[in-house]
Amino acid sequence: MHTKTLKELSALLHAKQVSASELAKLYLARIRQSDLNAFIDINEELTLQQAAQADQRIANNDMTPLTGIPIAHKDIFVTRGWRSTAGSKMLMNYISPFDATVVEQFRTAGMVTLGKLNCDEFAMGSSNENSFFGPTKNPWDKTAIPGGSSGGSAAAIAARLAPAATATDTGGSIRQPASLCGVTGIKPTYGRVSRFGMIAFASSLDQGGPMAQSAEDCGLLLNAMAGFDARDSTSLERPAEDFTRDLANPLQGLKIGIPREYFGAGLASDVEQAVRAALREYEKLGATLVDISLPKTELSIPVYYVIAPAEASSNLSRFDGVRYGHRAKEYKDLADMYRKSRAEGFGDEVKRRILVGAYVLSHGYYDAYYLQAQKIRRLIAQDFQNAFQQCDVIMGPVSPTVAWDLGAKADDPVANYLADIFTLSTSLAGLPGMSIPCGFGQGDKNAKRPVGLQIIGNYFDEAKLLNVAHQYQLATDWHRRAPDGV
Ligand code: GLN
Repeated sequence: MHTKTLKELSALLHAKQVSASELAKLYLARIRQSDLNAFIDINEELTLQQAAQADQRIANNDMTPLTGIPIAHKDIFVTRGWRSTAGSKMLMNYISPFDATVVEQFRTAGMVTLGKLNCDEFAMGSSNENSFFGPTKNPWDKTAIPGGSSGGSAAAIAARLAPAATATDTGGSIRQPASLCGVTGIKPTYGRVSRFGMIAFASSLDQGGPMAQSAEDCGLLLNAMAGFDARDSTSLERPAEDFTRDLANPLQGLKIGIPREYFGAGLASDVEQAVRAALREYEKLGATLVDISLPKTELSIPVYYVIAPAEASSNLSRFDGVRYGHRAKEYKDLADMYRKSRAEGFGDEVKRRILVGAYVLSHGYYDAYYLQAQKIRRLIAQDFQNAFQQCDVIMGPVSPTVAWDLGAKADDPVANYLADIFTLSTSLAGLPGMSIPCGFGQGDKNAKRPVGLQIIGNYFDEAKLLNVAHQYQLATDWHRRAPDGV
């Protein structure tokens, strides 16, 4: 039962072959037995209450395609009834008095909350090792990182601890862990999904999205997740869409842009081979490959690592032990209280970002760093618009390598930043992007570590991305594979 997709579970619930309560119990038991550290808060009583409510709705025939399906939330979304920590000591005991819009939308659809998922502290990281609660392990190889920052989300889907999960992507945090754990995830166009109740990292980049086993499942989840929200000032006011409407479209004539900058030095040969094999599969499905260029790709790293910390330094000022968060026990005066509370509450990576952010925004450096980065951000977005003159979607790797060993880059922040090279520019441009499983690495160590294919679309083209991903998943079975023992 636990290996089934959301779509399959939905059919069983509709046919009354399984109840929401049975499903909730089954996944809770799996979570209890797991040693991955993917979940950082559960509340079985509340989960079972929600499941009983879903069963009531099913009995009354008051169902959506998601009613009774369990879902787990990245601990960046605030939830009533579960702790909301952002993976930080700062919010270790925080219980939100309200639900994030996304959490509320899934509840309205009748989904059952399984608990909260581990992530890098305040979503800053690429390996999940920056979590105060310790790293999540990659279910394919427990000595490897699951990716980050949504590592708990990706590991939970891969280990079939949940059929659906939420995640957030500021510079790759949906696509990269999805890729390294062999699951499907989509980061929508900036503004599609409400940021209300999503603990802010870099507000001009943050975007929520779903993770699941398949593109079809992600489409069903996005249907409930997307939509205008007056409580989010950058929410897009657009009519509701059925993101699954184009799934069945054939790919005959599809033009796929292949950015040469995504296949250069730094890309591991095993990742390249898996991605190229996927591209050949697309050719078999009737698509043509077009050589394109995204010349500013390399600049996305310095630009992102100026803009994101700048915004973070502002967003995180609220965690001062007074308005929000951990307060030091002993202090001399008010300034000392702020200083100690923040020193104790934040981890090293978060402090590093706050320092960098405050620096690039400060008088005398603002023009040289922050303003300059904003200008290049604009050019990065223009690169994509030029490319979309020649192609319908863009494809390439998500991560230059498969998942690395736990600890391998833990003391090297720059090595982590460099691994974000293929995901940052999509976020800076605000474009939608996906990762779908397309194979594994090679050699003794990497043969069980998954590779993801990245699919990038133009603004609002989520339905097309899901179509392109779904057609590949009809022709291949990478997305159906699960780690040994699952
Ligand atoms: N790895 C990137 C960072 O550390 C992206 C994180 C994210 O998308 N939340 O900032």
